[in-house]
Amino acid sequence: MNKKYRKTIIAGNWKMNLVPSEVRPFTEELRTLLPKTKTCEVALCVPFTHISTLRRIIKDSRILVSAQDVSIYEKGAYTGEISAEMLSDMGVHYVIVGHSECRQYHGDTDFTVGQKAKAVLDKGMSPIICVGETLEQRERSLTKDYVSYQVLAALSYIPEDMIKQCVIAYEPIWAIGTGKTATPEEAQEVCENIRTVIREKSGARMARGVSILYGGSMNAKNAQELLSMPDIDGGLIGGASLKPAEFSKIIDAVAEVTGE
Ligand code: PEP
Repeated sequence: MNKKYRKTIIAGNWKMNLVPSEVRPFTEELRTLLPKTKTCEVALCVPFTHISTLRRIIKDSRILVSAQDVSIYEKGAYTGEISAEMLSDMGVHYVIVGHSECRQYHGDTDFTVGQKAKAVLDKGMSPIICVGETLEQRERSLTKDYVSYQVLAALSYIPEDMIKQCVIAYEPIWAIGTGKTATPEEAQEVCENIRTVIREKSGARMARGVSILYGGSMNAKNAQELLSMPDIDGGLIGGASLKPAEFSKIIDAVAEVTGE
């Protein structure tokens, strides 16, 4: 399917790393390394405490300030929670929902992931909906069924006309933070299947417009091969996004793939 119908996105997921005073030196270094040509969108999904600092620093740059999670609730007595309205008021662009670490440690379910995605869309931002199988599921050949189920469960909360604003990130759990990457062919197979699921649900036009990212130990060395795959429209990057030089090389890989 033709990639021209969708955005290429390189999104860094800092997780619970760096303190606010490290945001400026990090971002200034990254800015000097960013290619001048805009071959892709660049997002940094930072802890809530870093958002306003990042926003101030990146004001006139191409970096999109983004977040790692959101509450399912709109407002009120939910101690410790951050609402979609709060994020949108702070200029947040993308919000990760359903990261496997949030599913594993914070009790996110397919039910809450769909609700979070809808909350993000309702406030004019875009969710990056994470899906992916465990090693056991892969070994039992359950990957496609499980990932298809996760995608459909999340999208069942989204009105049809909002689906094109969603981004899906295929992140095999066994590849996150482990240094093990899915081969480009393995990643492509699942991403293609995700697009098929969207096509069967919402039609070809919708499916060709939704960006599907790969995440799981993507780095400067393997990015180009993964990003060359026809259904991989970018990356969600954890560890390698914490090093400006490494992260910018992944962005350079997009230019190499597109020839710009
Ligand atoms: C992630 O946390 O989304 C991720 C892909 O991490 P890593 O790149 O470190 O595997």
